Amino acid sequence: MLRLLFLAALQVEAGPALAQSPPPPSADSRPDEPSGLVLTFLDVGQGDAVLIQAGGRTALVDAGPSAPLDELRRRGITSVDLLVATHPHQDHIGGMDDVLAALPVRFYMDNGRTHTTATYLRLVNRLEASPDVTYLEATPRRIALGEAEIEVLPLPPGPGEHNDRSIGLVVRFGDFEAFLSGDSEKGELTWWTDRGAIPDVELLKAPHHGGDNGVTDAFLGAARPEVVVMSVGPNSYGHPGTGALAAYAAAGARVERTDRAGSVTVVGRADGSWAVEMGATIATGRPATAGDAGENQRTAGAGTDAIASNPASVDLHVVADAPGNDHHNLNGEYAVLRNDGSAALDLSGWVLCDLARHCYRFQRGARLDAGASLSLHTGSGRDDEGRLYWGRRQAVWNNSGDTAVLTDAEGRVRARHVY
Ligand SMILES: [Zn+2]
Repeated sequence: MLRLLFLAALQVEAGPALAQSPPPPSADSRPDEPSGLVLTFLDVGQGDAVLIQAGGRTALVDAGPSAPLDELRRRGITSVDLLVATHPHQDHIGGMDDVLAALPVRFYMDNGRTHTTATYLRLVNRLEASPDVTYLEATPRRIALGEAEIEVLPLPPGPGEHNDRSIGLVVRFGDFEAFLSGDSEKGELTWWTDRGAIPDVELLKAPHHGGDNGVTDAFLGAARPEVVVMSVGPNSYGHPGTGALAAYAAAGARVERTDRAGSVTVVGRADGSWAVEMGATIATGRPATAGDAGENQRTAGAGTDAIASNPASVDLHVVADAPGNDHHNLNGEYAVLRNDGSAALDLSGWVLCDLARHCYRFQRGARLDAGASLSLHTGSGRDDEGRLYWGRRQAVWNNSGDTAVLTDAEGRVRARHVY
């Protein structure tokens, strides 16, 4: 059996106690990370794998039919604080064994139901051989993940089908809420809805890969999502369903699909606003798509500009390979921004991040005149008009390939450089 250890690093409590007091900041969150909740729906084909990052902590909800280890590594994930198997079907737990073998995992949660498949038995054997992993059953509880909170909903009683015992999670960061529930179908969705357990959310992972049996009017009326992400790949089940697509469209939600966009990242902010970023499947060798950012009503209007249709003209490139050892010559690696537009840009609150989400935030008042360039050097120095210094002690830009993403103060992607 798995040892039951409660590690202080990740706060796990049964009951609502944590709801009353904000979870403490985690000890090792990086000060240069953007304050926010980042959910990435990894493109794993037909299946689910949702990476949740907050305050330096990481949760992975399902692990796809096979482990998305390359994608995780490229995003700088070296450990997983909480691994969740929503239900024991292959397209959700097929990659769990390899994740557990490759990365340190602190807590593993499932719904307590067993299965008979070879995939499931392989996972159980791996868990039993992993004494450092603490097992959690998905009973109602709240879990602090950095500055965010994950609420585990109760599960319907009785035997039932596996899909309708999928673990339901509400992920919160300030006023931003997301709902994830594996492959739940109408039965489980109705059970939750009847009990008032479904909150009004900003982000919804379409239950059951966007299948027609993964949505009801009452559920959608309670959840009222602004953005819906379908984790879906080529399949013979008819996912996503035309009825579900119509229902989400009628609800006015923006819909993104991993089979079309590749991995989809949604950044939620404490004020309830959010931004969507797509095309990060550079990691799996696909051609990069144009960056795209969306905003909810608070910043509607400008928020749906894609780079392609918004050539507001910031050129971004990175000189990653400094002469000598990059870690000893930090200012030899740098990013260059050039304003190709005809008006000065106010960079206040803009953020430049690498794929592992090391981020630099431009200070209030930073500006870039029309036609001008500036360089952002990784190490320390005194800022002047054309040169800024990040002040890091380690290199950021990966010499063998990385992605620089420049986001403005509203969370819109304004430039991306992939090398
Ligand atoms: Zn599934």
